[in-house]
Formats: sequence, C-alpha cells, structure tokens
Amino acid sequence: MPHTKLIQSALAAREQSVAPYSKFNVGAALLTARGEIICGANVESASYGLSCCAERVALFKALTHESKKQRDFIAIAIASPGGAAPCGACRQLLAEYASEAEVILINSRSPDTPTITSTAALLPNAFTGQDLDPASNC
Ligand SMILES: [Zn+2]
Repeated sequence: MPHTKLIQSALAAREQSVAPYSKFNVGAALLTARGEIICGANVESASYGLSCCAERVALFKALTHESKKQRDFIAIAIASPGGAAPCGACRQLLAEYASEAEVILINSRSPDTPTITSTAALLPNAFTGQDLDPASNC
C-alpha cells in the first residue's frame, strides 16, 4: 500500500479530534517534500461556523512550520468515518498551497482500501493567486 506511514499518521491524528458536537472525528496527515509528516485534526465550536477541518489544521500547521522554500507538499491523507472527501473550503486551500498533492481518502472503518485522488481532480480550474495578477486581467 502506498504511503502506509502517512495513512497511519492520519488515522492516529483522528485521536486528537475535538468534535464534541458531531462526533465526526477526522485526522489529516500532510507529507512534505522533505519527507516530514505534519498532522491535524478537526476542531469544532458550539457556533459551528468557527469549526475547522482537519485538512486545514494540518495545512496551516505546515505552512507556518515550514520555511517558504520547503512548502512543497507531496500528499495529504485524510481519515474519517466513510472516507469523506474534503469540503469546498479545504479544496480551495489545497489548490492554493498543495496543488500538486496526491489526496488519499481513508475510511477509518476500512483503512486498507483508500481512495486515491488529487487536489486538481477535486477542484478543477481553481481560483488561485495567479488569477489576482493584474496583468492577466486586462
Ligand atoms: Zn474542510
């Protein structure tokens, strides 16, 4: 199985989930080009809107942990009940900061058969910082 350590890290990250309302525990593990694995788990708020997905927690940790030259992300593994795909907000941020990443969706109930996809497949024609370039908008 590819990325066995990454998948195990995502499953372990679920244990850190703070989801007292939904009980939907999600873990994410992001693999950097240097081979480092940075994990995150979802955190919920009673207001719901302030909650943050595991994918974004891992990505934000990685972005603020790695130097700017080390922000090449190879893959992200996401473990949840049912192996859900990232929400729209997470897809947007992955498209901006991990556009080349392989995305590994893991059903925590049957982790041996992950679904493999990619950031580009999850959000084709993504809006990115390149779209904000004034020269391209004339
Ligand atoms: Zn999300």
